[in-house]
Amino acid sequence: MEKSDLKKFDQAIEANASLEPILAFYRAIVKEQIKVYGKQQAAKELPDQTEVDKLLRQGHPINSQWPVSVNYEQMKALFLKLGEILSEHRPEKNNDIKKITAKDWDFENLAQIFASDNLSPIIKEAEEEQVDPSLLAFLIVNALRPFYAFQAQAVIGLVKDEEWQRPHCPVCGQRGEMAVLQGDGGKRYLYCPTCDVTWKYLRLECPYCDADHEKLRYLEVEDSLYRLDVCENCQGYIKTLDAQELASVPNLFLEDLLTIHLDLLAQKEGYTKDPSVIRQ
Ligand SMILES: [Zn+2]
Ligand SMILES: [Zn+2]
Repeated sequence: MEKSDLKKFDQAIEANASLEPILAFYRAIVKEQIKVYGKQQAAKELPDQTEVDKLLRQGHPINSQWPVSVNYEQMKALFLKLGEILSEHRPEKNNDIKKITAKDWDFENLAQIFASDNLSPIIKEAEEEQVDPSLLAFLIVNALRPFYAFQAQAVIGLVKDEEWQRPHCPVCGQRGEMAVLQGDGGKRYLYCPTCDVTWKYLRLECPYCDADHEKLRYLEVEDSLYRLDVCENCQGYIKTLDAQELASVPNLFLEDLLTIHLDLLAQKEGYTKDPSVIRQ
């Protein structure tokens, strides 16, 4: 999460006129997130290698023992700012956004609910306020993202490939959203958009279920570095970018937005993405 990401958004907007509305929307969001990210200070205490190895070996993501340090004032300010951006870009949702941003939320509580990976209390809150739950969840996730990404940056170097090859993020525990093939022989990595990190994952495994290998196949996308990995057992899909030939590491958050047409293609073919993933 750094200022140079904005340049990548600008280049992408220039090259993809039809995606301008969504890219401009996320550029505005990322710009605010980068500001908050830049205000974070190194944590006084972080786990060491032995501790991380132990947690991962036991199947626990790092944040389960080392919760993300969130400045609730900054989170609130970002939440409100993102509400303004959302209003500007999605005027049709103005009524809900007004209701959501007018409420005096307990941000510590919202952050804890998000960290617990069970969003049902948030959905309930939204229903009580008679607002779209996905809007509320979107604002919460995005208001927390700089804090998650900052903490993840500090610990991801301690995650060894051999200690963690699960479908969930080794830092926050959320399911990986995209896959990327990189390095020797095209090792497969998964990406967590909340923490903005990747980790090694098994090459022939469905990230949603424990299907046999023969249930897995992929749909080639013509003239593209992408393919869709699909599972005939659970009907899940994940977009995979083959980055082996690329000179630099791609910005996967942006790549995800640039390949919305592949999500539509997968959904048209009857495949679904993890329903816990929240996107507007
Ligand atoms: Zn994560
Ligand atoms: Zn599956």
